[in-house]
Amino acid sequence: MSIKVCKFGGTSLADAGQFRKVRAIVAGDSDRRYIVPSAPGLRSSADRKITDLLYLCHAHARQAIPFKEVFELIAQRYRGIVTELGLSLDIDTSLQEIERRIAAGASADYAASRGEYLSGLILAEFLGYEFVDAAEVVHFNARGLLDLQRSREALNQRQAQTPRAVIPGFYGRTPSGQVKTFSRGGSDITGAVVAYGVGANVYENWTDVSGILMADPRIVPNPRVIDTLTYRELRELAYMGATVLHDEAIFPVRAAGIPVNIRNTNRPADPGTTIVSEAQPVAHLGSITGIAGRKNFTVIAIEKALMNQELGFGRRLLSVLEVNGVSFEHMPSGIDTMSLVIDDAQLNSKLDKILEEIRHECRPDSLEVYPNMALIATVGRGMAHTPGMAAKLFRGLAEQKINVRMIDQGSSEINIIIGVENADFENAIRAIYKTFVG
Ligand code: ASP
Repeated sequence: MSIKVCKFGGTSLADAGQFRKVRAIVAGDSDRRYIVPSAPGLRSSADRKITDLLYLCHAHARQAIPFKEVFELIAQRYRGIVTELGLSLDIDTSLQEIERRIAAGASADYAASRGEYLSGLILAEFLGYEFVDAAEVVHFNARGLLDLQRSREALNQRQAQTPRAVIPGFYGRTPSGQVKTFSRGGSDITGAVVAYGVGANVYENWTDVSGILMADPRIVPNPRVIDTLTYRELRELAYMGATVLHDEAIFPVRAAGIPVNIRNTNRPADPGTTIVSEAQPVAHLGSITGIAGRKNFTVIAIEKALMNQELGFGRRLLSVLEVNGVSFEHMPSGIDTMSLVIDDAQLNSKLDKILEEIRHECRPDSLEVYPNMALIATVGRGMAHTPGMAAKLFRGLAEQKINVRMIDQGSSEINIIIGVENADFENAIRAIYKTFVG
């Protein structure tokens, strides 16, 4: 028996029309057995997300401000969906109960979680699937962290009696029985937990884009969609700024080797992007997977003759950062040089103090600071063990007259990170894309 777990995001369930698309998708494949919905999201850029409105109700209630009007917006939205879908579900009783509990001082997590809860009730009725409350199957421990093993056991048990179910995203329960939510966007995590718990063959994450793009579309016009990438490549791209799945959503499925397929509810025929384990053979040798980058780094370059022979030099240097509570992103080094690449958000006003302490602790021959740097990662497992990839990259940059200020290649060879000035950031990304993709 093959099992697909499908998570549908907020825009996929924004109105009755979107619910219909979801039903067609679920009906299109009988393996789509466990469905994890978000709360209704934005219908247009001027719209309000249900989750935001629920938080607002809670904030009002806490300050004893009447919230009836805000709650009515939520109620109307759900009532409208139920009526338009022609369902006989009694949504009003659930709405009244939620309003009453928020007024009586229920927690922010309880209030926010009701968006997914109500979505789940409606979707279960509409699909003819059983409704399973996430509070029964998604468990947090006493410290408020996801208890993956306990959730797995609970899901496993439920699965035996419930071959098809809708399980709301975003929340679970604590050992004392309180509703608790994940961080914002956390339905992605629920989907991954459910996929892990029921032993899914695939975790489908349905959203409003046809997968992960090879580059930021605000920089490269119409970039290609990545068809397949590994978890590690995803991590590299996400870390360097590509917005994809909720970070924590990766680890339950990654550990179990369950592929994640990112799909578009509005274009269900598009194959989307599949995230696979590292063990998969590389389909396109010599190709790149994606390009991502971030601006606003500062490089501190330290030079000292015979640095390599000086015991404890690196430790003293890094301890300056540690004492100042600053972490570094990269540390390219030469025989007598070491550079620290630090995110400006980390550094804020500590630069002068750090330089002073490096001078004192390490006695360098020279200490230079290069502000306004950007880092760009070109990522691809197809690059590893392929001669000529770096040459091609740097030729492409040179042709566009981009001055590369720093080079760093991870030992896994799945990325080459370059440092350029902030002003060259966009041009450099376009140049790399053009070189490898055209
Ligand atoms: N509805 C929640 C939020 O807006 C969770 C989610 O959509 O994943 O953050």
